[in-house]
Amino acid sequence: MPDSTPDNQYRIRKVVIDAGHGGKDPGCVGADKGLTESKIALAIALKLGEYIEKEIDDVEVLYTRKKDEFVELHKRASIANESNADLFICIHLNAGPKSVYGTETYVMGIEKSNANLAVAKRENASILMEDNYEAQYDGYNPNSPEANIIFSLYQNAYLEQSLELASKIQNQFQQGAGRRNRGVKQAGFLVLYKTTMPSILIETGFLTHAKEAKFLSSEQGQDHIASAIYKAFKEYKLEAEGVVPEDYTNLADETDTKENQDIVFKIQIVTSSKPISLDSPNFEGIKDVKEYISGGWYKYTAGEERDLKSAYLLQADIREKGFKSAFVVAFNNDKRITLQKAIKLLE
Ligand SMILES: [Zn+2]
Repeated sequence: MPDSTPDNQYRIRKVVIDAGHGGKDPGCVGADKGLTESKIALAIALKLGEYIEKEIDDVEVLYTRKKDEFVELHKRASIANESNADLFICIHLNAGPKSVYGTETYVMGIEKSNANLAVAKRENASILMEDNYEAQYDGYNPNSPEANIIFSLYQNAYLEQSLELASKIQNQFQQGAGRRNRGVKQAGFLVLYKTTMPSILIETGFLTHAKEAKFLSSEQGQDHIASAIYKAFKEYKLEAEGVVPEDYTNLADETDTKENQDIVFKIQIVTSSKPISLDSPNFEGIKDVKEYISGGWYKYTAGEERDLKSAYLLQADIREKGFKSAFVVAFNNDKRITLQKAIKLLE
């Protein structure tokens, strides 16, 4: 559909995949001591990269590590920044009480709960194995209760895109890989802190949960996880670029029959962990601002367009007004659906 493809748009040409930990840093360890986070994260990262390279021609995949070696957290972010990557995906595994299981995907920001803070602190503690961490991380000390204060002024310029990819990944984990969806979350991760592109950190499951650890350490389990991330990535890329593949079929499920459809396109402009008044100065100059809630996040949209072309024109207009990461989203009867599905239903 060349008609609906906007000019000068965001393109995803380069992805950096970051397998957490490695070398002298094993990450978290399962009940079976042979299972380490660093090994499983690397296996999933390599499988994910393979999927992308095999299936998508125009994307280059880079890795922060391809073998069992120690890489400093700031170096991982530098690899992404210096290569001008369009996306940064960190793969990790979680640890907790024996009964806890499921997947979480994080975006950089201020944590809303102590549980999220604990995950970030555990992941950030990798820097204790680095030689010069005091100088590298603005004085961040993982052992200090006030450690995360350095993140208090942090502004996530890529929050919208990062959240979008994160929620697609969580959906794929749940629907495609049969995982328990623990949600999209926000916390202060040093590895994401300085990146200059949409970035996420995925906790692919709990190594401390016997059944989940077994799944994650199996070839098949790792493949399910990698394939779910790949599918979410592909969907995200297509939507971000406004491209609809010709072979997109079977997208409409039974609840979306032609008879009961009411498709509208809106421009998503802001996502927040707290509600924002629709009269807020944040939205000055923007028409038809509406709120919807998804996965515990308050999301704000502008406009209500009946076709994709007008939606892209409005998107360009709204980006001009300063909402640089605004993007088109689709709804059917007020329910958020993928752009591809909306287009399929309108055919
Ligand atoms: Zn980790």
